[in-house]
Amino acid sequence: MPGYKQPCRYCNELISSDANVCPLCGKVNPVGSPRCPKCRNPIKVDWKKCDNCGLPLQTACPKCGQPTFFGDYCDKCGARLTVVCPQCKKEQPPLGELCAECGKPLKGGKKS
Ligand SMILES: [Zn+2]
Ligand SMILES: [Zn+2]
Ligand SMILES: [Zn+2]
Ligand SMILES: [Zn+2]
Repeated sequence: MPGYKQPCRYCNELISSDANVCPLCGKVNPVGSPRCPKCRNPIKVDWKKCDNCGLPLQTACPKCGQPTFFGDYCDKCGARLTVVCPQCKKEQPPLGELCAECGKPLKGGKKS
């Protein structure tokens, strides 16, 4: 029902239970379950894999390089777990080597 409020998982302020972005702290998916970055299935922070698409739910943070739960934000540094395609500028979860939008490599092609 409309008007029902829930605490934001990041700042604990009461916000609308259907908010996609917290109006107070600006983080995405502030209420309810975290969602799989690939298929948007509701997931839990202690899961190893998404039970719908099988995506491993541990990843290396693109910002700090530490292993983190593959939710919306890094457990360690709080960075948004997304990368921006150098070709088409589409922001996306780091699901693989190639852009989900244009199919080009997400990292400038340099291998050291
Ligand atoms: Zn918040
Ligand atoms: Zn999934
Ligand atoms: Zn990080
Ligand atoms: Zn792209």
